[in-house]
Amino acid sequence: MSEEAQHSRAAAAVEGQALAHVWIHSARWLDLAERDGLKVMVRGEGCRLFDARGRSYLDGLSGLYVVNVGHGRAEIGEAMARQARELAYVSAASYTNLAAVELADVLAGLTPGDLDRFFFCSGGSEAVESALKIAKQVQAMRGFPKRYKVIARRGGYHGATFAAMSITASRNEQYFGPFMYGISFVPSPNRYRNDFGIAGEEGDLRCAEALEQEILAQGPETVAAVIGEPVSVSNGNHVPSPRYWQRVREICDRHGVLLIMDEVINGFGRTGTMFATEQFGVVPDLMTMAKGLSSGYAPIAAVAVSARVFEEFKKQDVALAHLLTFGGQAVSCAAALKNIEILQREELPRRSAEQGRYLLGLLEGLRSHPTVGDVRGLGLMCAVELVKDKGTKEPFGVGPAAANHPYCRRLSALMEERGLLTRVFSALQLCPPLVVSREEIDQMVAIVDESLTLAEREFGFA
Ligand code: PLP
Repeated sequence: MSEEAQHSRAAAAVEGQALAHVWIHSARWLDLAERDGLKVMVRGEGCRLFDARGRSYLDGLSGLYVVNVGHGRAEIGEAMARQARELAYVSAASYTNLAAVELADVLAGLTPGDLDRFFFCSGGSEAVESALKIAKQVQAMRGFPKRYKVIARRGGYHGATFAAMSITASRNEQYFGPFMYGISFVPSPNRYRNDFGIAGEEGDLRCAEALEQEILAQGPETVAAVIGEPVSVSNGNHVPSPRYWQRVREICDRHGVLLIMDEVINGFGRTGTMFATEQFGVVPDLMTMAKGLSSGYAPIAAVAVSARVFEEFKKQDVALAHLLTFGGQAVSCAAALKNIEILQREELPRRSAEQGRYLLGLLEGLRSHPTVGDVRGLGLMCAVELVKDKGTKEPFGVGPAAANHPYCRRLSALMEERGLLTRVFSALQLCPPLVVSREEIDQMVAIVDESLTLAEREFGFA
């Protein structure tokens, strides 16, 4: 048997094992089993991934908005190995370790305002759960035990665990309801389809007003916190005016409500600055971070806590009633430290802003496609909104459901066949690693362009 045939047989065997034993998150079984859909990735380098069959792909989504410094960074692996040899784990309840101390210190220097204390955990959902518990406990400790409600935004995503799912707009009522009690949703800035039909910044500000009305309708004395992503990817990367977030901050302060900003995707250079909140000129009470914190080299997340909030725990000498075994795991902290060192050394947040402008400029050229309704983004977090009809702006589905529309599925398949991995739901997402080159951006956009042309022709749009 030739070497190539042996290789292909080995790849088929590992794909078979994967189908037999791995539960791929949120994927439909037949999709994986019937089409050539389950790829076992074996290697990564910069913006490229290689599968068991030796095929190469451009990673247009940084994994899942994670691998900000790019794939294959040996120095992160070496830092993790050094830490594992020295000390991998100590109890998160009683002690800490040198890597966690150093990481908290570095983060305190990067996060805005008085966000200077870090509660470490393992992933974005855990960070959101932790932020909600911190918010509720501090409200109770301040003498407001009836403040238990949380206001989130339509179209937002905050995770898959129970409380995080409860404050996520696209939660699956038929499987998981009833959800956590006391959650409501308000409109989120959207300049393409504004809830109030008001254009530009005024439309964003009308969304802030709607938030205040909701706080008043719920009764401010019952509201613990408001949560939102500075720029929401799940809602299609609409970039609000800084005045929106400043207004939200004022409203929260006026009513004694804590502001939680979820930087799980936005953070660590994705939007062109280390954190997106910097561009909006606000300091939240709590800020969640994950993904780009370690660029996926190890599972780690954190809640950045403001001195204002932590002060209450100090003053009353009360413990946070919350413990996660892997919080501050030393090897993960070492990975995050090296990752941040690379982000700073290679000025990747600035690079994200520059390459993001270039990418957005090229994506603008796709507006002539009959199914491209809008193009927008901030830094290397760009989206192409897909519509059935540009005049009516009719979408292919609401939020994540659009991913199941045959047109969106076909578009994904066409891009994948041409070597581009990304994600298509109501918008097609392009969020490559921050190290992406101009040539790679050119290739990505050319693949999107060609795939749109083919899919539009097949589905009778062109
Ligand atoms: N918050 C935001 C804004 C997210 O985008 C995500 C995941 O995509 C989460 C929270 C949940 O993070 P994880 O999947 O790491 O639990």
